[in-house]
Amino acid sequence: MKINYRSPIKAAILLLYVMLTNIIPTAYAQKIPLNKYGLPVVNTVTLYKELVAADSNQVLVDITTYIPNIRKDVRYATTANFTHKILYPYAAVYLRLPAAKALKEVQLELNKKGLGLLIFDGYRPYSVTEMMWEIVPDDRYAADPHAGSGHNRGAAVDITIIDLHTGKPLPMPTGYDDFTEKAHHDYAAPDPAVTANRALLRDIMEQHGFAPLTTEWWHYYLKDHKRFPLMNIPFEELK
Ligand SMILES: [Zn+2]
Repeated sequence: MKINYRSPIKAAILLLYVMLTNIIPTAYAQKIPLNKYGLPVVNTVTLYKELVAADSNQVLVDITTYIPNIRKDVRYATTANFTHKILYPYAAVYLRLPAAKALKEVQLELNKKGLGLLIFDGYRPYSVTEMMWEIVPDDRYAADPHAGSGHNRGAAVDITIIDLHTGKPLPMPTGYDDFTEKAHHDYAAPDPAVTANRALLRDIMEQHGFAPLTTEWWHYYLKDHKRFPLMNIPFEELK
């Protein structure tokens, strides 16, 4: 019988690749305390800084200084959101470095077309996900704290496109945080221009490594977002 040595090697390489790209550095994974749901959540600045020292891609950057001319409309810092409560102490958008880098490329490409990005949300402290769930315990509207969200990993964004000339967002099938079927990517909007805008956002985000969520046209996440642990550090402590 002839033994095929190639497959086990390929399998080992694949395993190593998955380990390197999807798993938080082992030494630090063990240091991350488990919360009441058994999820590892980084909850101190000291631990966060250790993670960043081991892997510079773990740093959370303020995208308003990192990405030129990006606009933000952080509804969670106001009562104008689906919970009708102020969830953030002030409007801030942080993302892990690779997400910020990718988004910067998206912005530069859109700017060439007279367009730009308007961001609603990025990194969301885990405790805010818990607050949202307390107010609206329904996974059609909010992330279940048993799993956490890509936002808690600093690797998901809620975003749309604006026309730089008018400063207004391009018409999309729904407003932000509209939890109806009209927000789904497969919704057939009556106006073809609206469908084209949704596709423009999706295409450019996918070209830069983001994946869409089928039920929310505004939500995108890095495909390898699980390499970033859930975080529960308030904005104030990231400064
Ligand atoms: Zn989102």
